[in-house]
Amino acid sequence: MPKTESNLVWRTNAPLAPCTTLQVGGPASALVDVASREAFLAALRRADAERLPVHILGGGSNVVISDDGLKSAVIRIHGGTIDAEPGSDEQWNVHVGAGVPWTSLVEWSVRADLAGIECLAGIPGRVGAAPIQNIGAYGQEISNVLKSIGAIELDSREYVRFTAAECGFGYRNSHFKSEWQGRYAIMDVELTLRKGAPATLRYGQLASQFSPSQLPSLKQVADTVTTIRRDKSMVVDHQDPNHRSAGSFFTNPIVTEAVANDVDRRTTEELPRWSIGNGNVKLSAAWLIDHAGMKKGYGTEHVGLSTNHTLAIVNKGHATATDLTKFAAHIRQRVASKWGVLLHPEPMLMGFGQTWAELLSGLSQRSDDTCYRNV
Ligand SMILES: Cc1cc2nc3c(=O)[nH]c(=O)nc-3n(C[C@H](O)[C@H](O)[C@H](O)COP(=O)(O)OP(=O)(O)OC[C@H]3O[C@@H](n4cnc5c(N)ncnc54)[C@H](O)[C@@H]3O)c2cc1C
Repeated sequence: MPKTESNLVWRTNAPLAPCTTLQVGGPASALVDVASREAFLAALRRADAERLPVHILGGGSNVVISDDGLKSAVIRIHGGTIDAEPGSDEQWNVHVGAGVPWTSLVEWSVRADLAGIECLAGIPGRVGAAPIQNIGAYGQEISNVLKSIGAIELDSREYVRFTAAECGFGYRNSHFKSEWQGRYAIMDVELTLRKGAPATLRYGQLASQFSPSQLPSLKQVADTVTTIRRDKSMVVDHQDPNHRSAGSFFTNPIVTEAVANDVDRRTTEELPRWSIGNGNVKLSAAWLIDHAGMKKGYGTEHVGLSTNHTLAIVNKGHATATDLTKFAAHIRQRVASKWGVLLHPEPMLMGFGQTWAELLSGLSQRSDDTCYRNV
């Protein structure tokens, strides 16, 4: 039974799998939903009183929680407002609470004719998590428009503000995902969006949906992105058999030019590759997986690659976190053997007490890997 104190509903031994899109993982010692900074601080005090460490969860769309669950108090931040005011020129400052669903913010911005995040339509999760891995898709990243972040430091309980430059944004990364991991709870973000500016059409597959003379509206672009994403099972739709995923499971690997050239030499096909400066090249994780012999749908009865997207690992309904991590290790191992490139998982691990590198290397070279098949 939930225990109520100071208006907090404190649920003990709470299942976490239903709080995540992968739908795996054991229970939390406690789970509490908060909708204000005061409630958040009250939840921290309660966790102290119960001697529990704290984990923050948003929409659970980018986490793998261990089958043992979390010996901690899990705090989920809900709700919040979107407040916008005009700045100089056509730039608008937009303040958003951490608990606002990301898709609601994109829909609001499109309606308000504020450009800058229209290509990020359809990404699940909440606004507070969006800067953690610098969400990106179809030619935009949140770091392109992020001005500042308000966060509570969990140890000191102090509210601090970071400028975008201080957050260390990179490709699917920020200080919040690396050296500051677990240190702050993001409470609000401030974006700079452009009133009346044209939509971003930087990504080839998106641009090709419109004629070169067309100047599509923000709504047309956001709708088109959502349609493309839906075809790849990249929106959360419970009717879709591929819906239990964390989106792309691996990031596109960044390798030296020498490694990219080596992969190129060993294939007769055209290798997708993008120079990103400093002698580094981004490769397509999906291409590497596919060309290591693992096609869409590859896997077992319980876990596999999405039938619509090579990069998504899907829980087919009864998988455990162990099934998923073993499968991820197997994919990484086969890609490394075939191409000499190590893939890095994108979701955050919770409750494993290990980094991804430690976990996956411990699981590699398994003798029972013959259970995985192409469909
Ligand atoms: C179908 C699908 C498609 C996806 N497509 C994309 C995509 O195109 N591009 C992309 O970048 N990502 C994508 N993702 C991944 C995911 O949606 C994003 O990373 C999203 O921002 C995660 O938000 P969330 O609220 O679900 O975070 P959660 O999964 O709940 O949390 C992720 C991490 O952030 C931490 N966290 C969450 N909220 C806070 C907070 N307020 N303060 C501090 N820490 C916090 C958690 O502790 C955890 O470590 C996709 C996922 C799915 C399931």
